[in-house]
Amino acid sequence: LRPVQRILMAPGPTDVDPSVLRVLSAPVLGHTDPEFFSILADIGTGLRQTFQTQNPLTLALTSSGTGAMEACLANVIEPGDRVVVGVAGYFAERLALIAERLGANVVRVTAPWGSPVDPGDLRRALGDASTKVLALVHGETSTGVLQPLQDMGKLAHEHGALLLVDTVPTLAGIDVQVDAWDIDMCYSGSQKCISAPPGLALVTFGDRAVAAMKARRTPVSFYFDLQMLERYWYGDHMYHHTPSISLYYALREALRLIKEEGIAERIERHRMAQTLLLDLLAEIGLEPMVEPDSRLVTVTTVRIPEGVDDLSVRRALLQDYGIEITGGLGELKGRIWRIGLMGYSCQERNVLLVTSALKAVLSRQRLGTREAAISAKPPARASQAL
Ligand code: PLP
Repeated sequence: LRPVQRILMAPGPTDVDPSVLRVLSAPVLGHTDPEFFSILADIGTGLRQTFQTQNPLTLALTSSGTGAMEACLANVIEPGDRVVVGVAGYFAERLALIAERLGANVVRVTAPWGSPVDPGDLRRALGDASTKVLALVHGETSTGVLQPLQDMGKLAHEHGALLLVDTVPTLAGIDVQVDAWDIDMCYSGSQKCISAPPGLALVTFGDRAVAAMKARRTPVSFYFDLQMLERYWYGDHMYHHTPSISLYYALREALRLIKEEGIAERIERHRMAQTLLLDLLAEIGLEPMVEPDSRLVTVTTVRIPEGVDDLSVRRALLQDYGIEITGGLGELKGRIWRIGLMGYSCQERNVLLVTSALKAVLSRQRLGTREAAISAKPPARASQAL
């Protein structure tokens, strides 16, 4: 098996640093080997640094980001609990659906796709009713919008609710301060700004969330039982399930690289890359969908110009240049492209490549010379050199 080398500029997964790929081929340890527990402890430390928290209950689940959504909600929600979700995109709606499947009474506070949810609307929805969780998506990958979080902890706590925040496309690419912003439950995924392969979900629970989890009266999901998982990671190491050992090696190495680069420097790298991207996109007449104040740095959404066929452009980028970007989801399907600049994929070189490739494909389409194009398509394996 030799999958072709791509340049991953969709909103995840991202390209993976060669040093992270290398550790994937290290010998597999047993899940109760003391050496593996020391790797887990290192991951816990690296995650606390990245989430900017002191929370003891900080770990990585063997699941994708959706598993973290489910784990966070499942550990605190009981049937009938009221959950307020700020919904202005696909992933916030997923949070609402998961909470509903857990039997919660879900109140959606909506905003048009392309804007953040209004804090005043959230305050009104919290109202006087007793609410268990206020759930927000920090970076809505489906729209490229950043939801401001700074006052949200205070707002939730004034109403007796826990604050749950999705940082799947933001952690390690944009500032996320779990303790300073009073976030009770926060999660992310391994495959975006962390730039490890997909398959691990990163979770941190603060004191209030731990208390709520311990006070529950109804049984919790077995697979996502965070108390049992905490015992396996940090307690007497009692077996719960077999973790994906090799992915934890990769995560440990990815977190080491984040520490080596420095969080502040990494955040600045992401900011600068998007500035350059927007500049070069403007030169070829491509406009961002989101207003500057609400723009998510790590995923840029771009309007598809009138008369341009979404799918054929993306197919040409992939087939001719090995570059992956994605299209819109839901109501934005066919109307936008989503370009991710995250983690190892967030490089100036990639910004130059994607904008030059877009320019070439768009002008080929304009001239109607798609077929006649010298076809930049490289010979079979040569694309690996990219
Ligand atoms: N939340 C957000 C904001 C996401 O962008 C994604 C995935 O793109 C998820 C949750 C779900 O993560 P996964 O696809 O790893 O299950």
